[in-house]
Amino acid sequence: MSRQLDTIVIGAGHNGLVTAAYLAKAGRSVLVVEGREVVGGAAATEELFPGYRVDSGAHRIGGLSPRIVAELALGEHGLEIMPADPTVFAPVEEGQPLLLWRDPARTALAIREISEADSKAWIPFTALIRKAAEFVQAAWAVTPPDVTGNDLGDLWSAAKLGLKIRGMGKKDMVEVMRVLPMSIYELLGEWFESDLVKGALAASAIGGLCQGPMAAGTAYTLLHHHVGAAAGVMRPTQRVRGGIGRLSDALLATCGKHGAEIRAGARVDRILVEAGSARGVVLEGGEEIHAHRVVSSADPRTTFFDLLEPSDVGPEFARKISNIRFKGVCAKVHLALGELPSFTCRPGSGPHLNGVISISPSLEYVERAYDDAKYGAASKAPYLEISIPSVTDPELAPPGKHLASIVMQYAPYQLRDGTWDDAARDALGDLVVRTLARYAPGIESMIESRHVLTPLDLESRFGLAEGNIYHGEMTLDQLLFMRPVPGASRYRAPIRGLHMCGAGTHPGGGVTGVPGRNAAREILKERSS
Ligand SMILES: Cc1cc2nc3c(=O)[nH]c(=O)nc-3n(C[C@H](O)[C@H](O)[C@H](O)COP(=O)(O)OP(=O)(O)OC[C@H]3O[C@@H](n4cnc5c(N)ncnc54)[C@H](O)[C@@H]3O)c2cc1C
Repeated sequence: MSRQLDTIVIGAGHNGLVTAAYLAKAGRSVLVVEGREVVGGAAATEELFPGYRVDSGAHRIGGLSPRIVAELALGEHGLEIMPADPTVFAPVEEGQPLLLWRDPARTALAIREISEADSKAWIPFTALIRKAAEFVQAAWAVTPPDVTGNDLGDLWSAAKLGLKIRGMGKKDMVEVMRVLPMSIYELLGEWFESDLVKGALAASAIGGLCQGPMAAGTAYTLLHHHVGAAAGVMRPTQRVRGGIGRLSDALLATCGKHGAEIRAGARVDRILVEAGSARGVVLEGGEEIHAHRVVSSADPRTTFFDLLEPSDVGPEFARKISNIRFKGVCAKVHLALGELPSFTCRPGSGPHLNGVISISPSLEYVERAYDDAKYGAASKAPYLEISIPSVTDPELAPPGKHLASIVMQYAPYQLRDGTWDDAARDALGDLVVRTLARYAPGIESMIESRHVLTPLDLESRFGLAEGNIYHGEMTLDQLLFMRPVPGASRYRAPIRGLHMCGAGTHPGGGVTGVPGRNAAREILKERSS
């Protein structure tokens, strides 16, 4: 079979669907081919246990751009975002837990029971984070310049960013520039004294990184996760009613409305390149589909090494791609619970279970969790981010039951001893449950089913290279015009007609839709078929 389209998008993760929706809305003929039977990629909801709707990858919606929600009418297609309040409950084995509320004055009051000085610092600190995150947000919307070329359009986008930071005023500008490359350890040390406060904030800076909070640049990662957050809100936690997969459902509806076609269970074997131009794809099974351009939302390693021939990529570009650090460090554990767990420091049910539960009692605890991974072992005492979404969204679990969705860090993709086989997966599941039981005793007996995804499972299930949840580490040297690599930061590969739109491109990972939107904008500047 052979037919001609304007664009083929590889992958129906949320970014691929966002790109497809914008292109179709602009009148382009678009086909999305997804290798899995389920759409949504790493932001999908799946029935991992009968009667449970489980967010198998992402369980919080990151800085999803409200502009995308409005432009693609996602609300009209069923998307309902539920901001959690409090955003975070950080339990302790003994003493006072920490609650971060959406109202900063309420949080400051709560912190007073832990530290008077930290309570006073809270509101000014959140104001600094907001200012710095606003700068990062301005950078998100801009297509990064190609530092290897000298296109005037590139200079203009860089200049606009410069103007934005100058518009902040001298004092704020200096402070924001100072903060960006800092370690979160240094930044928090300037503001806070309490271990619990520092641990809860530091945890937001190391998500998906094979680094601890003492590493330079982790302050930037914290800012990445605060883009779009309302004033005073730290670790903004919001979910999608019905599960994060409802975002893809809404995107599918928008795509359908504008005539884009989606084929699930259609894995691309290779991208067709003729005379130096991408001309379509060949599916596993041999079907060829032709198009004027191909847009890949798969990560850069998959796109350039698995779907193209080395002769198409060229040695210099291949070298740059092979230098991207992936180094997955996250595991995901899902628990079907017969009842709601109770925490010793705050027994029973209540609003403290609305947001995420952060097992991060101190910054040193998180750094030590990383120390194990540095030497190729899973953390003995891991950082856990637990979500019990059935508390605020009962349709996710059968009546009276609950669901816990847990991101565990650090579980290095490359183990020094052994591999991520069945025994290692079971040991990881046991470790996570044991860690949680120190704060919520008795949870073991509430577990009716358990599902564990090691970094190797994340790679095979979602197609994430080395199990990296963001399509490449979010470190300063792999961001902005260096994402995925210098010379390819404008959503264009060095092969005519081949574009990229996934989390491996600027501004990176998380459920934001921004790479997908930016890529569509760049593609729409080109002539249609
Ligand atoms: C365990 C886990 C927890 C996370 N937690 C959060 C969180 O709480 N909040 C947050 O904001 N982010 C979180 N993330 C990160 C976030 O989910 C991702 O950054 C984001 O979903 C990436 O979206 P994407 O569309 O760019 O790529 P993906 O979602 O990876 O989509 C790419 C798609 O391409 C498909 N594909 C790949 N190769 C082929 C091929 N050859 N043929 C056809 N299709 C192909 C894949 O199957 C996939 O569907 C988490 C991720 C994981 C894995």
